[in-house]
Amino acid sequence: MRRILLGPQRYVQGEGELANIGRYIGGFGSSALLVAAPSGYERVEARLAEAAARSPFRPVLAAFGGEITRAEIDRLSELQRAAQCDVVVGLGGGKALDTAKAVAHRSRRPCITVPTIASTDAPCSSLAVVYTAEGVFESAMLFDRNPDVVLVDTQIIADAPVRFLVSGFGDALATYFEARAASRAFAPNVAGANSTRAAIAITEECYRILLEDSAQAMAAVEAHVVTPALDDIIEAIILLSGIGFESGGLGAAHSIHNGLTALPATHGCMHGEKVAFGVLAQLVLEHAAPSEAERVLAYLRSVGLPATLGQLGVERTPGNVRLVAEAAVRPGETIHHMPFPVTARDVEAAIMVADEMGSH
Ligand SMILES: [Zn+2]
Repeated sequence: MRRILLGPQRYVQGEGELANIGRYIGGFGSSALLVAAPSGYERVEARLAEAAARSPFRPVLAAFGGEITRAEIDRLSELQRAAQCDVVVGLGGGKALDTAKAVAHRSRRPCITVPTIASTDAPCSSLAVVYTAEGVFESAMLFDRNPDVVLVDTQIIADAPVRFLVSGFGDALATYFEARAASRAFAPNVAGANSTRAAIAITEECYRILLEDSAQAMAAVEAHVVTPALDDIIEAIILLSGIGFESGGLGAAHSIHNGLTALPATHGCMHGEKVAFGVLAQLVLEHAAPSEAERVLAYLRSVGLPATLGQLGVERTPGNVRLVAEAAVRPGETIHHMPFPVTARDVEAAIMVADEMGSH
């Protein structure tokens, strides 16, 4: 049986690390295509100038439009074709980084991801999640390599609104439960192989850190300071959850997230917020130990993640629940990696019960 572990070539995390990006760009050449949303770019502009003064490089800004669609990937790939930069650098949240990975893949150039918020586990992975222009989940694009460098400046993350970090908790919370289910089913991970013991151990550590350090990490971000607890939490969200989901395997929680994106009412919610509710529904679906579901529910409440459909902006009507459930069980969805067959009816029931649990 084949086991595969995926990960970035190099992971660097520290306070003020963005000032060293010139050194990493220099490892690949002298010019860098910077894929960033204008608002995200503004947050790091001064630090990039400081970095270029330390180790010179030629930046070419490719303004990201905000949604990762096939058209947006085509447009930015065209910019890269004209600019012929030596490396593609993504700066921002999950969507900007996924777009940068796709552009790097198309142009066969190395990729550096610089997460400026810790809202998802996208920075380390070798895939991009593509949406329609309306924000509905479309598909996942898989690449043959992970980012060459993942550069995390913890001070930049500490300066971002706390809601992003909390959304990152939701994404990272799913990792252990999904990998556990997928490995029980001997279901394939993102590389199409079985998980390693290393990947499963990483997901367990990720969950442990979330339970221990989330409260202190939130306090650090509220105060815009970096503490050891925030360092551990950032590593859990970006590195441990990143390797964990990709090498451990996904399960029901992310499919329920994908199903939720079919409802326009959820488009104001972040990825991790929808995933968090998906975790609770997965625990119901797989009939996890009641104490475990209670612990997760208490955790969601303690950090302010959604535990009900209402908290996601969704009215609990039979029509809405059916729509989400049907989208969640489409062929190819990782919900079919659970160690038992799952139907739309099962998912409907799990969503209703999770919503009930979250409401009381
Ligand atoms: Zn995710």
